[in-house]
Amino acid sequence: MRRLALKSDIGDIVEKVEQGVRLSFDDGVRLLKSSNLPVIGWMADIVRRRLNGNRTYYVVNRHINYTNVCKNRCRFCAFSKSESEPGAYTLTIEEVIEKAEVAKREVDFTELHIVGGLHPSLPFDYYLTMLSELKKRMPDVHLQAFTAVEVEHFSRISGLSVRDVLIKLRNAGLGSLPGGGAEVFSPRVRAQLCAEKLPAEGWLGVMRTAHELGIKSNATMLYHHVETPEETIDHLMRLRELQDETSGFLAFIPLSFHPKGTELEHQSKRSSGVEDLKIIAVSRLMLDNFPHIKVFWIMFGLKLAQVALSFGADDFDGTVVEEKITHSAGAETPEGLSVAEITRLISETDTVPVERDTLYNEVRH
Ligand code: SF4
Repeated sequence: MRRLALKSDIGDIVEKVEQGVRLSFDDGVRLLKSSNLPVIGWMADIVRRRLNGNRTYYVVNRHINYTNVCKNRCRFCAFSKSESEPGAYTLTIEEVIEKAEVAKREVDFTELHIVGGLHPSLPFDYYLTMLSELKKRMPDVHLQAFTAVEVEHFSRISGLSVRDVLIKLRNAGLGSLPGGGAEVFSPRVRAQLCAEKLPAEGWLGVMRTAHELGIKSNATMLYHHVETPEETIDHLMRLRELQDETSGFLAFIPLSFHPKGTELEHQSKRSSGVEDLKIIAVSRLMLDNFPHIKVFWIMFGLKLAQVALSFGADDFDGTVVEEKITHSAGAETPEGLSVAEITRLISETDTVPVERDTLYNEVRH
């Protein structure tokens, strides 16, 4: 394979990867435009094994989406509703706690993943109380909550700076930020898909502040809608630059766009398996300073997620249990997996399942 790879049209990039030389913007665009998926995957696997060996991480977690009411109208979103629309819901603090407690009796999770829409009338206190009440009842559970977009919304409704919002959230029990809402940073893409949403500078600014405060986060990218290869690579380069500055990102999570039920349903198709694998691999190659690349099996599907573990991904995400956002857009994957199913799926690849906590410490039982 190595001889073929070196002779291929991307042989110069193969040499760089072997020597650990950072890839350029142009390299990234060439990789995305190349049809040489086997060589791209082979290179990404070299980097994955250099960083994480044959370990594949997973976390025992539970998702809670506290409301689907959102004042924004992102065109790619099938989850959000206005307050008066049928199907709109907002959980009370008691309901959030009950969901978490019922789930904890069933599975001893280490992480709660909490995100929701930008509710027009919930006060900032609702979010602080949610975290502090959960933390009081489950002190050992890591609360990974709120996208940068939600954090900026809290800043607006509370009149506090983003820094002060983050400090208050941390004092209430916030452990880390999940990294959603990044979409694709290009202003052209944002103007077409989510004009009301926090722009790139705002998203990166929230993350920079969080990292300065010692709050770690993930980063995401929603792909396969209207973005160009250049815009995809620009997104990755901007994340890489911030990571050089802060080292605060734990994992990068590419999210494939699911058009069903969105405004784009009639003009978009789901991404192909080839594109999904290429995005995982190119992310691994470009984001040389990100410790982990996560394949979110909810979006990839279980079989392709297994293959992605040989294309640069080293994290299989988690048990999830109840996922509403991607399933609102037609995801056909289960809403949750048991630990036994996850470890079986990982063991069927040539990698070894390792249970981690949110901060990637190995969990030993
Ligand atoms: S993607 Fe987020 S901000 Fe946009 S409409 Fe959906 S819930 Fe609201």
